[in-house]
Amino acid sequence: METATAELIDGRLIASEVRQEVKASVDAWTAKGNRAPVLKVVLIGDDPASASYVRGKNRACAEAGIESETMTYDADLSEAALLEIIDDLNTDEGVDGILVQLPLPKHINEDRILRAISPAKDVDCFHPENVGNLVAGVPGLQPATPAGIMEMLKRSGIETRGRTAVVIGRSNIVGKPMANLLVQRGIDATVTVCHSRTPDLPGVCRGADILVAAIGRAGFVTADMVKPGAAVIDVGINRVEDASRKRGYRLVGDVDFEAVSEVAGHITPVPGGVGPMTIAMLLKNTLFAATGSWT
Ligand code: NAD
Repeated sequence: METATAELIDGRLIASEVRQEVKASVDAWTAKGNRAPVLKVVLIGDDPASASYVRGKNRACAEAGIESETMTYDADLSEAALLEIIDDLNTDEGVDGILVQLPLPKHINEDRILRAISPAKDVDCFHPENVGNLVAGVPGLQPATPAGIMEMLKRSGIETRGRTAVVIGRSNIVGKPMANLLVQRGIDATVTVCHSRTPDLPGVCRGADILVAAIGRAGFVTADMVKPGAAVIDVGINRVEDASRKRGYRLVGDVDFEAVSEVAGHITPVPGGVGPMTIAMLLKNTLFAATGSWT
């Protein structure tokens, strides 16, 4: 039997289009005499993964004409001190976007910190006011990863209206906002959210025209869980040992890419899929926070 091969959704390419559009909008904004948008990134502790994410964000900002500054603090910074730093950034008219890089050290209450960020500057969209707006369908800041997935679907011509979407994972960062975006009026998907307590998860997934995997387990989605022709979006970033690589591991998603490629209609790779979109949408959020416009 001949095997079909899914069309690859190139996240790097789509992200670079978005980044160029943001740059054009920033250029138009500054050409009118406005200052460049400013993003402040707060990084606490010395987690190498967090530091590397932050470097990627800073680089992308610079390329788009957004000024970004990383404020770095030792892991023993107190919660009170961090709240004061956020308060200063909230009231600083020279700052448009604030991003506190997660995870935070254990002695700091993450919820309290995320609530302290001014909703208008909350480019990660974790503040309950922004989460509420997202659920209610009020236009505004959107969480970067699910918003990036919506952008990928749109720009890849994947129909959502009247289609069945299944999201695996119910985190506040990916799964829940993803489901909320897919169900909005105008997007019009019929959405199911699966999690670790879902009975017959493979059966539910097999009903999906659009399957979003945000679990954090390498190779979780196997070919038998995918409806032929479905669009499969792989959010997962997992390290698997690989002695052939200099660093001793490689990154894979939540989807068994090779096997699922033979069943799906569209598929995102890892790396080079959802990851680059997340950074591109952070830039778009910073543009919106600075200018009040997406374009
Ligand atoms: P999380 O750990 O907060 O949530 C994982 C979810 O998966 C949970 O809701 C849980 O119910 C579900 N789950 C776990 N085991 C399951 C099982 N056996 N069956 C069904 N459901 C199960 O993770 P998260 O923050 O949502 O991230 C998920 C993955 O996406 C991680 O690999 C993370 O690194 C990655 N991620 C990638 C990006 C990106 O930009 N590409 C952004 C955020 C997260």
